[in-house]
Amino acid sequence: MSHTVLELDLNALSHNYDYLRSKLEPDVKMLGVVKAYAYGSASVAVAKKLEEKGIDYLAVAYTAEGVALREAGIKTPILVLHPQIENFDQIIKHQLEPSIYSFRVLKAFTEITEAQGLKAYPIHIKFNTGLNRLGFKDVNEKDILEQLHATEALKVKSLFSHLAASEDPNERTFTLQQIENFENNAKHMIAGLGYTPMLHQSNTSAIINYPQAQFDMVRSGIGLYGYGNTQEEDLKLKPVATLKTVISQIHDISIGETVGYNRAHTAAKLGRSATLPIGHADGISRAYGKGRGYVMINGKKAPIIGNVCMDMIMVDVTKIDCEEGDEVVIFGKGASAVALSARIKSIPYELITAVSQRIERKIIE
Ligand SMILES: *Cc1c(COP(=O)(O)O)cnc(C)c1O
Repeated sequence: MSHTVLELDLNALSHNYDYLRSKLEPDVKMLGVVKAYAYGSASVAVAKKLEEKGIDYLAVAYTAEGVALREAGIKTPILVLHPQIENFDQIIKHQLEPSIYSFRVLKAFTEITEAQGLKAYPIHIKFNTGLNRLGFKDVNEKDILEQLHATEALKVKSLFSHLAASEDPNERTFTLQQIENFENNAKHMIAGLGYTPMLHQSNTSAIINYPQAQFDMVRSGIGLYGYGNTQEEDLKLKPVATLKTVISQIHDISIGETVGYNRAHTAAKLGRSATLPIGHADGISRAYGKGRGYVMINGKKAPIIGNVCMDMIMVDVTKIDCEEGDEVVIFGKGASAVALSARIKSIPYELITAVSQRIERKIIE
């Protein structure tokens, strides 16, 4: 290996899928969340593997992400979590299924499906039960039902909602209230619809913490990629993505010399720095600079010294036996994304999704 790669272990994905499935009642379906390039990995490879594993549904955030999956031959139903009205023609053209989260969106989608003479086009009605992000809030379900009964163009495939703090034991009361709110929304909708769509509310942490909220389907993202939001769950899951690079150059640094832009690091004693071909344009936030972040070289932590550059970082290898060309692991197998992201008060979600598209993805089966 002579450059920076993101290795994607599809066996780890398969393991995580099986582990999460083992938490579900036998007839509960699973939706794999593959938004944001499958959490920074590679959405087509991940979606194909999940399809092969028998996943019931996929979800993306935006329409273009779903179009890319369809163009790559993915046949599994795809829910678009945050569709935008100007993309509705693309949604229909590629048989994507929109989340309908407001009367404005419902009206616009009804108009376009009717104009195209469509019948029973699958949609998913989203309720805001406390996250206050997207979804119908404080509505009389009768008003939604009235719109739905007035058209033959739409069919409600599912009713869903999203939890705000399913990973946080201190927010248990709030989460239970969200589940109850959703049950109420669903009850009123089902009574008026005349048929029973699927219900789903759980993300990864809810699969683990709220087995009573599995309903008909659960939606897992971070868990599939190997992170469970607790130490205990992290041990049972396997990271799919490992970000690796190599040492480009090693410098001996004498006392008083500085390293990097703005001379942000001054050597307090004689030492060695290693320059690595990865920088903030690759997803290594500038916040990791000045000793806050580190990389793993030959099993040891090498702190990032000075400022993170656009395309490079310099790390302190004074105490590490290494040479130019040696492998460096930033996160993944052998370097916890949880521990690294915690150094800048972040979370693995942010670290793993930030890996830029210029970094090669290498699939390992
Ligand atoms: C991203 C997302 C998920 C996945 O959440 P994880 O915590 O990664 O499992 C589920 N549902 C919705 C609506 C999302 O936006």
